Amino acid sequence: MTKTELATFAEVLQTKQAELARLRMGLDGIAIERSADALEEAQYKYARELAIASLNRDSAVRRAVEWALIRIHDGTFGACVHCGNDISPRRLGAVPWTPFCIRCQEAADLGSERVLKSIEEPFFDAA
Ligand SMILES: [Zn+2]
Repeated sequence: MTKTELATFAEVLQTKQAELARLRMGLDGIAIERSADALEEAQYKYARELAIASLNRDSAVRRAVEWALIRIHDGTFGACVHCGNDISPRRLGAVPWTPFCIRCQEAADLGSERVLKSIEEPFFDAA
């Protein structure tokens, strides 16, 4: 990967990072609404749960983005963290923070512990 390509990815990742930080601030502002009406109360609870699920998803992406930026700095960006093969440019273009090539991603999605072990970085534990 060329320096220019890396710089472009770094920019995309930093933009994504800033966007997620803004989203998080928005979600922190979610009010816990209460109602005497049981149905309404259930709807509020559902809305809160949705917000929390989306927050969890965002924080997983945020960690992946941070980790991708670290890989840009240490020169390993673009290689699958599990098998070391190059991640296809198309895949990186769509999901620049992905740590896996498509084959390892599929294995990870199926719950392959061998593959998932590759992302047990000390960095992840610190989050
Ligand atoms: Zn791989």
